[in-house]
Amino acid sequence: MKTTQLTILGSTGSIGLSTLDVVARQPERFRVYALTAHRNVERMREQCLAHAPEVAVMADQEAAQALRAALAASGSRTEVRSGPEALAEVARAPQVDAVMAAIVGAAGLLPTLAAAEAGKRVLLANKEALVMSGALLMDAVRRSGACLLPIDSEHNAIFQCLPTGYVCAESVSPHGASRIWLTASGGPFRDRPLDRFGGITPEEACAHPNWDMGRKISVDSATMMNKGLEVIEACWLFAVEPSAIQVVLHPQSIVHSMVAYEDGSVLAQLGNPDMRTPIAHALAWPERMESGVQPLDLLAMGKLEFSEPEPARYPALGLAYQALERGGTATAVLNAANEVAVEAFLDERLPFSEIPALIAATLDAVEAEAADSLERVLAADYRAREVARSLVTNAEQAVS
Ligand code: NAD
Ligand code: MG
Repeated sequence: MKTTQLTILGSTGSIGLSTLDVVARQPERFRVYALTAHRNVERMREQCLAHAPEVAVMADQEAAQALRAALAASGSRTEVRSGPEALAEVARAPQVDAVMAAIVGAAGLLPTLAAAEAGKRVLLANKEALVMSGALLMDAVRRSGACLLPIDSEHNAIFQCLPTGYVCAESVSPHGASRIWLTASGGPFRDRPLDRFGGITPEEACAHPNWDMGRKISVDSATMMNKGLEVIEACWLFAVEPSAIQVVLHPQSIVHSMVAYEDGSVLAQLGNPDMRTPIAHALAWPERMESGVQPLDLLAMGKLEFSEPEPARYPALGLAYQALERGGTATAVLNAANEVAVEAFLDERLPFSEIPALIAATLDAVEAEAADSLERVLAADYRAREVARSLVTNAEQAVS
């Protein structure tokens, strides 16, 4: 079997750690070519010593210098690079077969696009890249013949429920699929009375009942913007209209999503909530391999429940549909405003309950344009961040 050379963008994060865990179980099958991170030097040093990549990239320059010194002292031969161009370089390097796109947020867009343009197997966790510029990314995939495989558990489940031979970016309807059921846990505040949303702290918002994830996606799960971003992601990956996607609350997070077919069949993918399953699926596809995930015990589980999400509890979900309807750069504006609002909430500068209003105001203030070039997408992202940041400042001044 040929060894797959792998670049992991965002290796020090939650998805990065799960990916390295899966890869370490199959040393004859995978070889880590490059690891990248923002500025977590200590974790990157440990990863370089354990996996001996040829290249390590720290997006932050000072962190890169600190890593260089730490690795030299440990006798490591890994070359350290820094900056955004270095991220794209290790994503498109000729010796690389597969790229795990697991940087959080807009920072992942350019290297993910570079991997797609270079025709790699792209394992897509970085949903924000698709939300910002779905048209450009899917275009790059089609033109280069890249193999795009979803890592987000719902989208990976949907992909698994589609017929053999289906490739992402192709419409699912010719395959007889009529509806996609996107499951959502409802996050940590599923049962909290709405009048007690005011005092929610970052720690509470990051304590997800079923999944252990990075802080940004944990807050997104609590507001359900995560599901909104996932609806947009599904529209691009599976070439469906928003009306063909139904979000359903499923508190147990065992059914990861479902595809309904025109003959009345509904196919679902089930498993314990552990990201190593979709990661191993996409790494081994079209084969299967061991992932370290505990087998699912349905008898111990007992019951699986489904219900409709309450719009008043999760206004962020409605905002994602609104942005989809506006089209063009509106979803890039939605994403940027959300990133600013979540960061402000995590810094305790914005109350949790104000996150959706801030995103709605930014969407109204920044007009959508055609998302037909990277320049336009990045300009919309920039403008939305400016507007959202000034709204955060105004909100702070109103309180003090
Ligand atoms: P995380 O915060 O744990 O890790 C993020 C990684 O990105 C880190 O390695 C960090 O160093 C890197 N990074 C952050 N900012 C950067 C920058 N400016 N430049 C370069 N690198 C930067 O996040 P995560 O939970 O692993 O999520 C990663 C992506 O996967 C997100 O897009 C998220 O939506 C998606 N995702 C995560 C999960 C999950 O279970 N964690 C599930 C589905 C999808
Ligand atoms: Mg998901």
